[in-house]
Amino acid sequence: MPTSLRILHVASEMVPFIKTGGLADVVGALPKALNGLGHDARVAIPLYRSVRRKAEALGLTWSEHPLVIEAGGVDHRVGVGTVELDGTTVYLLACDELFDRDGIYGPSAGMDYDDNARRYAVFSKAALALPGMLGWVPHFIHAHDWQTGLIPALRERGFQRTLPATRTVFTIHNIAYQGAFWHFDMKLTGLDWSLFNPLHLEHYGRLNCLKAGVVFADRVTTVSRRYAEEIQLPEFGSGLDGVMRANAFKLRGITNGIDTAEWNPWTDEALPTRFDLRRPGGKRACKEELRTELGLVAAGQPALVAVVSRLVEQKGIDLVVAAVEPYILAGRMQLVVLGSGDTHLEHRLRQLQTRHPGWVHAWFGYNEELAHRIIAGADLFLMPSRTEPCGLTQLYSLRYGTLPLVRYTGGLADTVTDVASGSGNGFTFGPMDYGHFSSVLDRALGLYEHFPVEWKQAMKRAMGADHSWEQVAAEYVEMYREIMFVG
Ligand code: ADP
Repeated sequence: MPTSLRILHVASEMVPFIKTGGLADVVGALPKALNGLGHDARVAIPLYRSVRRKAEALGLTWSEHPLVIEAGGVDHRVGVGTVELDGTTVYLLACDELFDRDGIYGPSAGMDYDDNARRYAVFSKAALALPGMLGWVPHFIHAHDWQTGLIPALRERGFQRTLPATRTVFTIHNIAYQGAFWHFDMKLTGLDWSLFNPLHLEHYGRLNCLKAGVVFADRVTTVSRRYAEEIQLPEFGSGLDGVMRANAFKLRGITNGIDTAEWNPWTDEALPTRFDLRRPGGKRACKEELRTELGLVAAGQPALVAVVSRLVEQKGIDLVVAAVEPYILAGRMQLVVLGSGDTHLEHRLRQLQTRHPGWVHAWFGYNEELAHRIIAGADLFLMPSRTEPCGLTQLYSLRYGTLPLVRYTGGLADTVTDVASGSGNGFTFGPMDYGHFSSVLDRALGLYEHFPVEWKQAMKRAMGADHSWEQVAAEYVEMYREIMFVG
């Protein structure tokens, strides 16, 4: 068996080129970490309009001949650009009539382009044609999320002759997004109509790209161990729980890592004072600076409690708004919120701020540097998500000694253990209701106020854990080897 594996990651997003969610972070970090372990991992993403300038700045070069990809009787010319990024080769697949647009998935947030089925069918086929053009045949094609869900099906039923020994892995980053299209889009795939049945590509009358990936991939992974269990249940499966149960034999959860260079409290340039596990003193200064920056009053030493999140129902922000007021009135906590999203949640947070000037600060919008300063300065970080495939901010908080208070779900359950266990690093609760959330918040504030030694011990355990991508990449390698073609 070869010691160095060849892996082509195919995805619709990758940091630093294009990001709308956690998928981009994984695709930016995992191939790099695999290369660090001595493998040959490369990436293919679409060349969106906003990606072109960044790629050109990095020395984009073009292949001589474009690929010609057929979809529904129309030929698309797909140019192949290449960029080297920190030792990782990235292929940028260019098809201007499909990807040279202002938006990524639609003309504005929450809207989809009408031809998304065509856009990602062409992208998937082009990614499968890439090895032939390069003369570089990967052992694995690792496809991410619905946009590349057709790849395992096409490898199995279309490209089996050109890539006979290549195995496919499909990773689900969020099962709620499935790429479901009307049945006539089957013709874009070039796959046989006989596959349009409930065991394969059809789901309640529609072509379902995520299901195609799950059914045909040699292995399916998702971004935390707990989420791999949860998506087999109706409550979390977004209608695909039965499909996940049927494919549980090849499903595995691998919890994401974090970029430990960007999120390192000892080297973080956004912070007024640096600190780490061995030199924790600077954290207090970060807290005081943050209170000054955000205009919070210095009244005694209430816990500084933070939220950095998309402000949407999934994240449980409604519970935060409903539960915190008695604790603020009692002088036990101050609240800092950074986020943007649903207008009704922003409105309720604004009202909270108006009622408690100097005790609540809400900052609406996206602000990377402020996110670092809040996570560094806070004592407690709230993440009462209804569902959470993995979650990153609780991992950043752990590294910065800010104890996370989370709902016991998905990646939050994998990474946060309640201090009540005697060896925990945060606080957890189960049922998604006001009573359970309020009582765990009361318990967390109580520990902060009355048990400083226990609090510090929990902080140390939080800061000492290893959530680096090197660890995670090793788990992926183990999984790749399990399904390696030996012939
Ligand atoms: P999700 O991908 O569901 O939004 P994650 O916790 O996996 O949740 O990742 C969220 C990422 O976005 C983190 O890197 C977090 O710090 C960042 N983030 C979210 N909202 C903001 C904001 N308003 N300003 C800056 N960073 C933000």
